[in-house]
Amino acid sequence: MGSRETSDAIASAHTTFYSWSKLTASERSKALRKWYDLIISNKEELALLMTLEQGKPIKEALGEVNYGASFIEYFAEEAKRIYGDIIPPTLSDRRLLVLKQPVGVVGAITPWNFPLAMITRKVGPALACGCTVVVKPSEFTPLTALAAADLALQAGIPAGALNVVMGNAPEIGDALLQSTQVRKITFTGSTAVGKKLMAGSADTVKKVSLELGGNAPCIVFDDADIDVAIKGSLAAKFRNSGQTCVCANRILVQEGIYEKFASAFIKAVQSLQVGNGLEESTSQGPLINEAAVQKVEKFIKDATSKGAHIMLGGKRHSLGMTFYEPTVVGNVSNDMLLFREEAFGPVAPLVPFKTEEDAIHMANDTNAGLAAYIFTKSIPRSWRVSEALEYGLVGVNEGLISTEVAPFGGVKQSGLGREGSKYGVDEYLELKYICMGNLN
Ligand code: NAP
Repeated sequence: MGSRETSDAIASAHTTFYSWSKLTASERSKALRKWYDLIISNKEELALLMTLEQGKPIKEALGEVNYGASFIEYFAEEAKRIYGDIIPPTLSDRRLLVLKQPVGVVGAITPWNFPLAMITRKVGPALACGCTVVVKPSEFTPLTALAAADLALQAGIPAGALNVVMGNAPEIGDALLQSTQVRKITFTGSTAVGKKLMAGSADTVKKVSLELGGNAPCIVFDDADIDVAIKGSLAAKFRNSGQTCVCANRILVQEGIYEKFASAFIKAVQSLQVGNGLEESTSQGPLINEAAVQKVEKFIKDATSKGAHIMLGGKRHSLGMTFYEPTVVGNVSNDMLLFREEAFGPVAPLVPFKTEEDAIHMANDTNAGLAAYIFTKSIPRSWRVSEALEYGLVGVNEGLISTEVAPFGGVKQSGLGREGSKYGVDEYLELKYICMGNLN
């Protein structure tokens, strides 16, 4: 599909906006709840589809279906709680009201690494508010998106309320950006494309929310519980074979615990099973494509040429294709690509540090600001460091922190706006102030 099909989808979303937004919150809520029920009753099939087209292990795919569905359930409930305000007036014959109204047609562009959840995290709140949506999923994972949209239709969500277009990304993107009927762009993906979309939204002054790339530090202090730190950093690093925006991209380890942590961590990484995602024992699937493997190879070459050493893995897996060995790299420093950019693969760079101040400085020494993790048994340190980190999400002694009930999003160049939670609806609403005068 290209611009013509996108324009058709926008027109359909625009027409449907007038009927969908006029439904009561309860009616929209019921349709969303039905969609949630259908996703859950088809979760095995959706997970299978996801593993087949994306490669993540079936257990993780099932986890994503539940996680993705949770946004539909949550926003089905939240639809009924989109309250306005009454402001005490400054003149006695007036009443001042604030209404929350849906922003209109939303263009949602999503990546391949979470083929369902990145869609539902946007579409759930948008539909709950009364918006209609044109979704463009990644060219690598169109099938999960289409299956989810089909279930939405079965749930009674009108065809025009949720439209899916796929094909030529720049053409579809431009059609969404240029349309005056599209009032909001919501994007999850790379920082480079996010910046283009933000610039492109200026012409028609659209509302924009962006969930972009991360460069997550995972800080392990001398006083950490080592088992908790290993479990947490392993989960934060190797989920989805390292292909998530919140994956620990740099594991900063305090000098006093560095050797002990490194050897326990390597042992844990050795236990990860690489293989076909459909096999129950697999914990690491392939990378998404050849370009992703080449990126990892480039980062490893850069690091070793600057003095880092491979402690485990460091090459393509013997299975071939786009499988890569779970890798641990030691003595990584801030001049290496592994430190500065998202590797988006199964590579754990270990970076030694001396003091808490050093760790905070190293962690914040990046344009990204999505997720950060800290491992320590000290409560005062947990607070101090959490507050000092320039990140939108902080996991303390925990590597898996995403949930539909908490706000997800980044600061600095990791994005704008929040998804999920009670804050997630704000992105799809406009405030209207109504001043009622001459009431005496
Ligand atoms: P990407 O290349 O930016 O692609 C994301 C989406 O944008 C895809 O649907 C892609 O379409 C589309 N796209 C590409 N160029 C476009 C253009 N000129 N106009 C309109 N759309 C365009 O990112 P990715 O490689 O799929 O995803 C990985 C990135 O996403 C990583 O940086 C990761 O950190 C980030 N991410 C962030 C979050 C978060 O919540 N912050 C969550 C997940 C992922 P095609 O695929 O069809 O080309």
